[in-house]
Parts: sequence; C-alpha cells; structure tokens
Amino acid sequence: MAYEKIWSENPKLNKTEQKKLVKDGLKIFEDIPYYAENGFSSIPKEEWDSFKWAGLYLQRPKEDGYFMMRINVPSGILNYEQVKTLAGICKDYGRSVFDITTRQAIQFHWLTIEEIPDIFERLSAVGLSSAGACGDITRNIMGNPLAGIDPNELFDTSGIVKEVYEFFQHNEDFSNLPRKYKLSISTNVKNSAHAEINCVAFTPATKIINGEKVAGFHLKVGGGLSARPHLAKPLDLFIEPHQVKEVAVAITTIFRDFGYREKRHLARLKFLMADWGPEKFKDKVLEYTGTLPNKGEDALTGWNAGYFYGVHPQKQDGLSYIGFNVPVGRLDADEVLEIAEISKKYGDGEIRTCNSQNLIIPNIPHENVDELLKEDVFKRISIEPRSFIAYSVSCTGTEYCNLALVETKKRMHRLAESLDEQIALDVPVRIHMVGCPNSCGQRQIADIGLQGVLMRTKDKKMVEAFEIYVGGTLNEGGKFNEKLKGKFDTNQLDEVLFNLISYFKETKLPSETFFDY
Ligand code: SF4
Repeated sequence: MAYEKIWSENPKLNKTEQKKLVKDGLKIFEDIPYYAENGFSSIPKEEWDSFKWAGLYLQRPKEDGYFMMRINVPSGILNYEQVKTLAGICKDYGRSVFDITTRQAIQFHWLTIEEIPDIFERLSAVGLSSAGACGDITRNIMGNPLAGIDPNELFDTSGIVKEVYEFFQHNEDFSNLPRKYKLSISTNVKNSAHAEINCVAFTPATKIINGEKVAGFHLKVGGGLSARPHLAKPLDLFIEPHQVKEVAVAITTIFRDFGYREKRHLARLKFLMADWGPEKFKDKVLEYTGTLPNKGEDALTGWNAGYFYGVHPQKQDGLSYIGFNVPVGRLDADEVLEIAEISKKYGDGEIRTCNSQNLIIPNIPHENVDELLKEDVFKRISIEPRSFIAYSVSCTGTEYCNLALVETKKRMHRLAESLDEQIALDVPVRIHMVGCPNSCGQRQIADIGLQGVLMRTKDKKMVEAFEIYVGGTLNEGGKFNEKLKGKFDTNQLDEVLFNLISYFKETKLPSETFFDY
C-alpha cells in the first residue's frame, strides 16, 4: 500500500514498526490453526506479540503458554446467546474467571493455544470477535451502555457504533496504526462513554440547520491515559449521525498516515493532536470529509462516571433497566449464566456492560422487577452496593499481567470491603487501583487513584508500594488527579486511606463531593 511505502523509507522506524511492515498484525489469524495443531512450543518467541491483533496476550509468566483473551463488546451490548456463549467459553476453558474491563469488553484467562480455534468458532457463531481487541488497531468502541433505552440520550447510538465497529473490524487498511486507538460514540448527556480519555469521542450536541434543530455530535480528539495522560480537545465541528463513519475514517486515516512511528511511547494520537492543535487538526479532517458545519449547542450536562445502580425507567413505557454491582469487575462463569437466565426469564435476555466494570439488565417490564430482585444472585451482587465496593475499579495486576508491578484486583476488593466496614459516607468516593503506569484501570480520573510501584526499603529490598493521587474527574471537560507526596508500602495503604477518607468525612460540608472538597 502507498502509505506503507512512505513508512518504509523512514530510517528511524522503531522495531515494532519494521516488523509490522513485513507482516500485518491481522495475519496472525492465518497462523493460529497451525500453532493450535502443533502446540505452544511451535510458536516462535518473536511471534508472541503478534497475537495481540487477535485479542490475545500471553499472561504472566509468558513461558507457561497461557493466554488472556479480550472480546469486543461494542457499546457494551450483549444478547442472550452471546452472554451464554461467553459464560460457556469461560467455564470450559477459562477456569471460570470472567472479567469486565473499563472499556466494556470481556476478558478471559488461562486459555491454551489448542483451545483458541474452538473459542473463535463459538464467538463467531454469535457475532462476537476478539479481533483488534489488543494491538496497534482500533479497539473496542465504547458507547452508551443504555443506548436505545436511555431517557438521558439524544438518540439511539447503537446502530452507529455497530456500523463504525464493523467497518474497522478485520480491516487491513487500518490494522497497522502507530499505536492502540480508542473511539467512543455516545449521546448520553452524562458522558457515560468517558469522552475525554478516548483518542476520538463523538459527544451529544444539537444545531439549527436550515431552520430545523438537528441532533448530532460534537467531536473531541487526542485523549488518552498511560504515563503521559491527555484530555481530548474539542474540534469546532458539528457532525450529523450519518456522517460519523466518514469522520471516524478520516481521523483514523490521519492517525495512520501522520501519527508518529519512531518512538513507541510517543506514537498515540494524543501526541499528534498536542503538536498540531485543534485548528490544524480540524483543517486536516476537512481535507478528507469536505465542508462540515461549525459547532452547535453542547448537550453534555455532567458526568455519571459510568454508574447506573438501581431500578430506573427506560425511554420505553412500561420497561425498566436494573444496574448492579460487580465487585472490581469479576464474576465467575456460573454467576454470568445465572444472570443471563434471569435476564431471559424476566426480560429479553440482554445484558449491558459498563466502563465502571458493572452490569445492567435492560428491558424488564415494571411488573417483573420485584420478582427479579428476589432471585438468589442479588444476595451476592447488589443493586444497592455499599459505598466503597460500589465505586472501586481495578485493573488486572500481577495475577495475570506481565507489565504489572503489584497485585491489584484482590487487594482493591479487600480494601473496599475494609473501608465499608469502617466508614459510612453520604457521597461516593471513587477509588481506582492500577498495577503500573499504563493505567488500564483509569487511575487518572478517580477521586483517589492508587498506582502500583516498587519501592526500595531501608534494608535495600524491593517491595510493592503505591502512589496516591487525588481529585480526578471528567466533569466540565475533565481534570486528572494529582499525586500526594511519597510512596506508601502495602502495609500502610489501608491506614493511610482510612485516615484520608475519615478526614474528608469529618471536614466536608453535607453532600459535598470529593472533587468539590
Ligand atoms: Fe497491567 Fe498495568 Fe494495565 Fe494494570 S494498568 S492491567 S498492571 S498494564
């Protein structure tokens, strides 16, 4: 392809880029049947990273040959057959560990290469895929988990998310991007798809066009977390629903052709946006799309952080959706099966995943709600969870992740339970724990962010520790949390947090939130 010829002439291309020029990431799908037939030892070490394009990472320790698989769930919407299939795969192959990610995707662990072809077949039979869930490619597209049923959305975005997702799925014109690339598309006025931390976000807006009020989107570009976080910046454009795919393709083309490919840590779209600025970026988009109108009225009115606990009326008369807590995003396969059957028995079998790592059961007739809530599973998984477990998020950590410096999931779960035992608050305090600076658990937007580090003790031993950050939000365009001085070893962590939150409780005004404090 023409653009690949241009890259190949760049003498400073990094090693990953040189490798991608020789073999596109998606080609791994052609090799997997051979490797499955011949076992883990038949996979050359230099091929291990290529599995990312199939949504597969080798889990820690890599040499043991077990894979983590991430499955895309565009907008977080799963039908009954899909949920049953996911739970079945998880039970048969994944030792029953079912994780919901902060991008509404599902993750399995403990998979062997021999099992992958059958898993692919089972996913494909119900319209699911792990292609592009990892790697330098368009990742799962985040959306409003209430798309189509939400009284707080301008219009249903599920069809648009599907259209854009399907365009980029397995598309070799866009499978060699400089780095990972994240889109969100939502018209929920409470910013449920976390616009500002995505590379590209379509957000709700209206504009008077030819005397008529049109509902559509504004655009934010260049967000992303990791070690050098950026908040996406608005471009002065209004986009009608039928133009979303064209604009998404234009921006992805710009990223593919102008994104940086010399240094991996500077290859995200956020760095191109930071260098160009919104004006230049907008002009470049218009070179591809032709004229687009300037901004209209922004319809975002706050941020709900992706939480939907409790029973709420849908936009459809007579129907409710029910949001419930999945502690630190982890269920076992039997619980997922139980939830699927409950959703089918009382509603239509659908389940929605949230970027807060929780679940929603939609489409329950009002008269079925009370009976549904008497089901046993809701004794363990609450629609009214206690405050700290309700608002805790955790990444994978050392249990499975090769990049992790510390254990996270079990620690965050235990810490939240301990805080719930000791402190009662009238407002939520969102705590996010991550095992390294890559920030899969979105540490920067938490009220309290806990980032795992290693710390040298007085007797020169390296031990697990945490940095503490406070004051993150995506309200009003967003603000990342700021680091408190020092590092705290894991033995101190509970006490330090208890003291910090107790001080907040004692000195705050009634109803004052952690961010306003
Ligand atoms: Fe792994 Fe770091 Fe991501 Fe946690 S934040 S899952 S430790 S890469």
